[in-house]
Amino acid sequence: MRGKILRFVCAAAGLSIVLTAVFTYFAVYWDYTAAVKQELAVESAYIGTAVELSGPQYLESLSRTGVQDGTRSGGLPTRITLVAPGGQVLFDTSAGAESMENHLSRREIRDALETGTGRETRLSQTMRKQTYYYARMLQDGNILRTAKTTDSIFIALIRPVIITVLIAVFIFTAAAVISSKVTGMLVESINRLNLDNPGDNDTYEELSPLLSRMKKQNDMIAFQLSEQRKRQLQFTAITDNMREGLVIMDQNALVLSCNKSALKLLEVRLENIENQNVLVIRRDEAFRSVVEQAISGATAETLLASGAGHLRIFANPVLDNRTILGAVLLILDVTEQEDRERLRREFSANVSHELKTPLMTISGYAEIMAGGLAKPEDTGHFAQNIYGESQRLITLIGDILLLSRLDEKHEMPPAEKIALLSLTRTILERISGAAAERGLRIYLDGEEAEITGVQHILDEMLYNLLDNAVKYNRQGGEIRVSVKTTGDEVEISVADTGIGIAPSEQERIFERFYRVDKSRSKAAGGTGLGLSIVKHGAALHNARLKVYSDGISGSRFTLRFQKV
Ligand code: ADP
Repeated sequence: MRGKILRFVCAAAGLSIVLTAVFTYFAVYWDYTAAVKQELAVESAYIGTAVELSGPQYLESLSRTGVQDGTRSGGLPTRITLVAPGGQVLFDTSAGAESMENHLSRREIRDALETGTGRETRLSQTMRKQTYYYARMLQDGNILRTAKTTDSIFIALIRPVIITVLIAVFIFTAAAVISSKVTGMLVESINRLNLDNPGDNDTYEELSPLLSRMKKQNDMIAFQLSEQRKRQLQFTAITDNMREGLVIMDQNALVLSCNKSALKLLEVRLENIENQNVLVIRRDEAFRSVVEQAISGATAETLLASGAGHLRIFANPVLDNRTILGAVLLILDVTEQEDRERLRREFSANVSHELKTPLMTISGYAEIMAGGLAKPEDTGHFAQNIYGESQRLITLIGDILLLSRLDEKHEMPPAEKIALLSLTRTILERISGAAAERGLRIYLDGEEAEITGVQHILDEMLYNLLDNAVKYNRQGGEIRVSVKTTGDEVEISVADTGIGIAPSEQERIFERFYRVDKSRSKAAGGTGLGLSIVKHGAALHNARLKVYSDGISGSRFTLRFQKV
């Protein structure tokens, strides 16, 4: 800036010096030459009158007195020439008239002969001098010519030009010093400005519009920043509360944003992964592949194992008019769905298997009987087997249907008040025959308690618990059932003195078709679905189901319901 100001000041000063000098010198020179010409005409008039009155000898006397050399008047010397009408020089103050050439060719002489007066200005051959001529015709027809010689315009300009150059040097130096001081002052006060609070500056008035514009812009930037921050906070609040993981990256796979769920689901232990390559999260082929596809503009999806679960990752490119700006990864925990899917697959495989066995038996006996291969004494036995397997099928299908209804939670009759002790008593009656066959003693104690529930589901749940207590009991054992109210809870407990359940099996027995001892369960007519029904039924009634057993001496199952 300093250089620019200096150049500008010097150019302005230089231009004004040159223009002023040129106009002034030309005006002065013009006036001066006009005065010389005027003086010549006046002198010519005086001398002409004197010559007409006194004759040419006046010129001789004038020459002797030295008036024409200008020393007395202090002006320029005047050369006086008298020329005859034919052009021969009769008298000249500077040279011998006889030696001078004919002057008829001189323009001022010719003009004077024609019009009475004539003027001419001639440059010397060296261009250094300039002579002004004035010629006048006298009454006797001779021509009186007066002339003055001055320096030519070129010579006259030398001194002023030198002076002008010196002045210019002085002015340029002064301009350089002054402009440097002034710009220094300006720059210093600009540097001292408090740009954070432009309104607080006490500086030149001329800077006020700039400062007020800066203040407005500062205010606007502050507003936009706070809006931006607010939006960022909202975005973080929303994404941090998402169950799904969200990772936003740029086209170079550098992480721009990553929510808490993503870090948790992907088991990232790093504090902050922003601005780091997304592959610091995972380096396995499947993850790398979806990231690469997304940042090259394609959508991709993959299923990854993470910890004990499964993650589904959807990768989408972020495009702006076909330009890839980056990509977004959406990470879902699909462990539950995957487990459910696995259970469903296992369940259908188990169902087919469980249905196939009795059907094969039924079909085998029926085939023998239809082919007339059965002995008459075996027919009753075969029919009994067919009936038994059919009952087994009916029970199995009933359990499957009930479980699927519990799964879907639809078509459930409305809940009603149920007297738990009375319900238990009716079920005990139903199993009393089987219990008696095995020599089991049954004890029921407690008092009546009401809960809210679905009658036939509760019936199934209690029946399965009591039926198991019979099936897995030892010959001549005991079954103890109690219903008691504690606080706002009603607990039913079914304890047996049977084979017990090892602690390692206690979680698995609630899985569908899981049996600790398959052959014993089948022999006892078990479907492997009883405890699954109890578990789902408990969930439907918001009841807590627990099993207690040391794996040797019996088991105890408890169900805790909310009291009405
Ligand atoms: P099942 O139809 O085979 O009885 P359940 O779902 O009712 O099927 O029970 C699953 C498994 O849990 C049984 O096969 C059995 O091994 C075990 N079990 C259930 N109840 C008892 C119990 N009271 N005592 C010992 N084992 C039991």
